[in-house]
Amino acid sequence: MRKSLEIAIVGAGPGGLSTALLLQRSGHRVTIFERFETPHPVGSGLMLQPTGLAVLDALGLRSEMAALGARVSRLTGTDSRSGRKVLDVSYRPLGRNIHAIGVHRATLFDVLHNAVRQQDIRLVTDFTATGHTATAGGHWLESDGRREGPFDLIVDASGARSPLRSSARFGGGPKPLEYGAIWSTVPWIDGGFDREALTQRYRKASVMIGVLPIGRRTLDGPELAAFFWSLKPDDYETVRVRGIAAWHAEVLSHWPDARPHLDNMSSFDDMTLARYAHGTMRVPADEGIAFIGDSAHCTSPQLGQGANMALLDAAALSAAIERSTSIEDALDLYCRMRRWHVRFYQFMSIALTPFYQSDSAVLPLLRDIAISSGAKIPPIPWLLAGLVSGQLLNPLRRIGLPPALYPEETRQ
Ligand SMILES: Cc1cc2nc3c(=O)[nH]c(=O)nc-3n(C[C@H](O)[C@H](O)[C@H](O)COP(=O)(O)OP(=O)(O)OC[C@H]3O[C@@H](n4cnc5c(N)ncnc54)[C@H](O)[C@@H]3O)c2cc1C
Repeated sequence: MRKSLEIAIVGAGPGGLSTALLLQRSGHRVTIFERFETPHPVGSGLMLQPTGLAVLDALGLRSEMAALGARVSRLTGTDSRSGRKVLDVSYRPLGRNIHAIGVHRATLFDVLHNAVRQQDIRLVTDFTATGHTATAGGHWLESDGRREGPFDLIVDASGARSPLRSSARFGGGPKPLEYGAIWSTVPWIDGGFDREALTQRYRKASVMIGVLPIGRRTLDGPELAAFFWSLKPDDYETVRVRGIAAWHAEVLSHWPDARPHLDNMSSFDDMTLARYAHGTMRVPADEGIAFIGDSAHCTSPQLGQGANMALLDAAALSAAIERSTSIEDALDLYCRMRRWHVRFYQFMSIALTPFYQSDSAVLPLLRDIAISSGAKIPPIPWLLAGLVSGQLLNPLRRIGLPPALYPEETRQ
């Protein structure tokens, strides 16, 4: 679009910050509105997939992320009772240089936030958006007793609990999932752990414990890992009342090697409870407003795609605005660019989650049989790698990212 637009972005998460960077670089005037007084991320680690890394590359931030994060080239899982390997997905079938990067959420935030500061993008903090309205003059953001605007476009990147989504008559909203997890950041420990793998331990689908290498918070800082334990949020209070020693004993009964990690979790205050919800907007835009990231589609982190999807949405929205002559056309193009990739991954996530997080006895049995018997038969290793890397259905081509930014072996 030739005209320079006045754009409000709600939320300083990965989606909001990357959208701000891309749109301001295209010549638009951008303001980010964040509810926290000091913007900060909540939680522990996440995996940046080749898709999200390609968007960070477009932003010129990939090498900074890679220097701080940890290379992850495999996902493995073992049954705690039998010791059988029931998950072994390698990125290798996609090419030698294709892998994910495990990072602390705060590291991803810092890298994007520093770039926002360097670009002098306006960031308004302590502003909790509660809704938006349209007048002849443009679109307005509302907060309790405050109104900001007018804007040509509002981008809602306020996450899974977006208040703008419901006020835009999208109703329903995401459904809470039965299982969530407690997460903690602990020092990286080599003993018994592969430093290039997300390593998990399961018992049926009701127990899932994981250790993900997440690199460092600063270049000279200590190496870290994210430790998680699958849990129903409704049971959290009971677990707390039983005490930390009882929880340690339960974890150790499934994974004795986890002892050194537990030594770094001496209280439940060292952990964060994450609740998961699943929902997908059919059309993530309305007049004068685009929804990106978890606000448009949220799910459990089983497939490790959420932050990557938010980065892809940001790149798609920016490309759609660049190529269109009106905001209406841009929003239509943005929705078309992301439609099938989002729907496919949301479907796969909700279909696969109960195999890893549920009370079912049958689903984990099917999972273990299918994975131990079929996962090595071509082209299944390639398909599994394509699935976890986020690359199935060619999302980078669909959003028109230049081929030079695709993961090396997929450029053709
Ligand atoms: C425990 C856990 C593990 C995960 N692991 C992975 C993984 O391995 N890989 C992966 O890709 N994804 C993972 N995810 C998902 C990923 O974190 C999200 O998909 C991603 O953060 C979404 O980014 P976002 O910018 O859309 O929203 P968010 O990160 O939720 O950011 C939203 C921002 O908006 C602000 N905000 C909220 N409401 C308002 C308001 N009303 N007004 C103003 N500001 C507001 C918030 O404070 C926040 O800063 C995980 C999620 C969890 C919970």
